[in-house]
Amino acid sequence: MTQKQIKTYQDLLINEYRNLLGKKNLIAGYPENQRFNYKFLNKFFRLSINNVGDSFQASNYPLNTLKFEADVIKYFSALYNKKKDYWGYITSGGTESNLFAIHLARTKFQNGIVLYSSHSHYSIMKAIAVTRSQNSLISVQENGEIDYFDFERNVLKYRKRPLIIVLNIGTTITGAIDRVENVKIILQNHNIEKYYIHCDAALHGFILPFCKHSLNLSLDKIDSLSISGHKFIGSPIPCGIFLTHFKLKKMIEKNIDYLRAYDSTLLGSREGLSSLILWTAIQQKTKQDFQNIVKYCLKLAEYAVQKMVKFGIHAWVNNFSPIVVFPKPNEKIIKKWSIATYQNIAHIITMPHMTKKSIDKLIADLQIDMKQNGFL
Ligand SMILES: *Cc1c(COP(=O)(O)O)cnc(C)c1O
Repeated sequence: MTQKQIKTYQDLLINEYRNLLGKKNLIAGYPENQRFNYKFLNKFFRLSINNVGDSFQASNYPLNTLKFEADVIKYFSALYNKKKDYWGYITSGGTESNLFAIHLARTKFQNGIVLYSSHSHYSIMKAIAVTRSQNSLISVQENGEIDYFDFERNVLKYRKRPLIIVLNIGTTITGAIDRVENVKIILQNHNIEKYYIHCDAALHGFILPFCKHSLNLSLDKIDSLSISGHKFIGSPIPCGIFLTHFKLKKMIEKNIDYLRAYDSTLLGSREGLSSLILWTAIQQKTKQDFQNIVKYCLKLAEYAVQKMVKFGIHAWVNNFSPIVVFPKPNEKIIKKWSIATYQNIAHIITMPHMTKKSIDKLIADLQIDMKQNGFL
């Protein structure tokens, strides 16, 4: 390559970096925390890191970050009140975590039927398709939480089969939390013994442990839990956390002679940078820091709701959620602020990088839209 050619491709990259940088503060509708600093990890880009095999047992390939991965899993398990007999690994995101959960559940119960919410993330449908699982849809209440009566109807209908129940600990659309306790009471009332509960806590899984609530969320009360790493925590690489019980993992692992390790994850080769990223994230901040960030985001959501309501926009938010729901605005605003929409509703998410100032600007745009449409 000539000096000129090198300069050209580097210029293209620098331009693209500037282009992307200019966009990041306008992203209001998707739950990606844009505020993080992992500069210290740059040097790891020089190594071919691979966390192949079980997250808790080193393979014969020495360039791995498994020690850090195990630390991260330990930290997250403790957040969900489990200090021993846990297992988990760092996945490529909430989607892989959900797919692995259904795979694990179907390994335990081969003829299990998956009960999932009509507001479940599309990754659940994908996991059902990949695992060719029979399934039944549970309808939701107005706030996006499952309808427990419809859940009970499904339990009665499929009571002869093992039930694989997927609950949302914060739905994607409205941030609604399904109550594990309610679901367990219904299962007990009908003497259901064979069941598996997976909680999809992609965004809210890193919010709930840091705010006051009485939801009683413990890993011991369920079979598995998934959280996205790139959402509330923030990461330059999409990643996720999958948590379960050690004894469930034992059902799935296979000893691989070639690796001198157990294969117990969905993928073979696994990138190890996100283990370092998540590990760094939990070193950089104390629990008090995370509590403060969560408080800031939830307060900002309240602020956005109040201000929108004041201007005649029908906005609302679920408890413990930074997802502010309001009627779908026009396309121009949706594009400008990367607002997420679903049928006739829209949402913004007050993530740590958002400020009162950015909310004010967004609401000013919404007001102009309403005036043009004759609502104001
Ligand atoms: C975002 C999300 C997912 C998928 O997570 P990814 O990390 O994007 O794969 C799964 N479930 C819920 C509820 C989500 O909000």
